[in-house]
Amino acid sequence: MAALPLRLLTWYDRHRRDLPWRAKPGDAPDPYRVWLSEIMLQQTTVATVRPYFQRFVTRWPTVGALAEADLDQLLQAWAGLGYYARARNLHACARAVCREHGGRFPDTEEDLRTLPGIGLYTAGAIAAIAFERRAAAVDGNVERVVARLFCIETPLPAAKAKIRDRTEALVPANRPGDFAQALMDLGATVCTPVNPRCPHCPLAEDCQGRKRGIAADLPRRAPKRIRPVRRGLAFWAVRPDGAVLFRRRPESGLLGGMMEVPSTPWREAPWDEREALAHAPFPGTWRRISIEVEHGFTHFRLALGLFVARVPARTTPPGLWLKPEEFAAAALPTVMRKLCDAALAASAARQRKTATAT
Ligand code: SF4
Repeated sequence: MAALPLRLLTWYDRHRRDLPWRAKPGDAPDPYRVWLSEIMLQQTTVATVRPYFQRFVTRWPTVGALAEADLDQLLQAWAGLGYYARARNLHACARAVCREHGGRFPDTEEDLRTLPGIGLYTAGAIAAIAFERRAAAVDGNVERVVARLFCIETPLPAAKAKIRDRTEALVPANRPGDFAQALMDLGATVCTPVNPRCPHCPLAEDCQGRKRGIAADLPRRAPKRIRPVRRGLAFWAVRPDGAVLFRRRPESGLLGGMMEVPSTPWREAPWDEREALAHAPFPGTWRRISIEVEHGFTHFRLALGLFVARVPARTTPPGLWLKPEEFAAAALPTVMRKLCDAALAASAARQRKTATAT
C-alpha cells in the first residue's frame, strides 16, 4: 500500500471539491476558516453550511472579531444550524484562543484539544489541514472509506478505534492536510454510502471490501436504539399588535441560551390539559388548538402541541415580546421556527375563515 497516499493525492489534485473554506492550491490555509468550517460541518451537510460560513466570515473575518462578538448575535447568526452547544463553544473557543494564545490557534492536536468544542476529530483536521501535521481526521466519510478499504466488518461504533489506527497509519509525511481532505472528498463523491463508484476510485486496486464484493455493505452498524417520543405543550400568547411572548432557555443543556415559546417540560408521558396549564407563563384564557409540531433531536423526537391566548393591551404581562417580522433575526432554534410557522399559519387560516363568515 506504499503508493496509496500518492494515488489518492494525485486524484485529489484533479478532483478536489471547491469549498469556500478551503485554501486554493498554493495558498496557505487560514486556521480560523479551517476551524470555523470544521465546527459547522459537524453533523451538518456542506450545502447547509455554505451560506452560514459565508455570513460568519463576512461579519467576523478573524478569530479576534468573533471573540469580541456578542454571544446573542452569534447565536442569532447560528440559528437553524442546530446542535447549539457548538455555537456556544465556538464563542468560548475564540475567546480562549485570544486570551491564552495571543489570537493564534495552537498547531498541535494536543494543544488544540484543550480548547472548548475541539475533540479528537476536529483537532486532527485542524492540525493536518491548517498546520500540515501528520494527523488523522476521521469523520463519517473517512470511516466509510477506510472500513471498505480494509474490509473491517466489526460494526460501528465498536470499529472506531480500529478504523482510526488504520487511518493514522496511512497518513503520509508529505501533504498530510491534502491527504485528510482527499479522503473526505473521496468519501463524499466516490465512495458514497449507496452505490460507491468503484470503477472511478483511485484506491480500487487496494480495496479489500471491493475484492470481497461487500464494500457497499460496509461499514456495518450496531442496530439503532429507537428514539423515544417526548411531548410538550407550548403557550402562544399574542398581544393586540401581533407580538408573541418568548423566553430564553437556560444557558446550559439542550438549546442552551436560545429563544423559545414558553412550554411545559418535555417528557414521555402525555400531558393532561389541566396539568399542562399549571406551566403557563401567566394565568389567562388559554385555548388548545389542533396543531402538533414534530422535531427530531439526536436522542429523542419531540411532539409539541399548542395553547393560544390573546392578551388585552392593558394586561400585557412583562417578558420578551417579538413581532413576527422580528422572528427571523431572533436566536430561534429550528424546532421553534417550525412552531412559529405552524402557529402563524393556523392564525391566518382562522382569520380567513372569520372573514369569509362575515
Ligand atoms: Fe470505496 Fe469502491 Fe474505492 Fe473501495 S473501491 S474505497 S468501496 S469507492
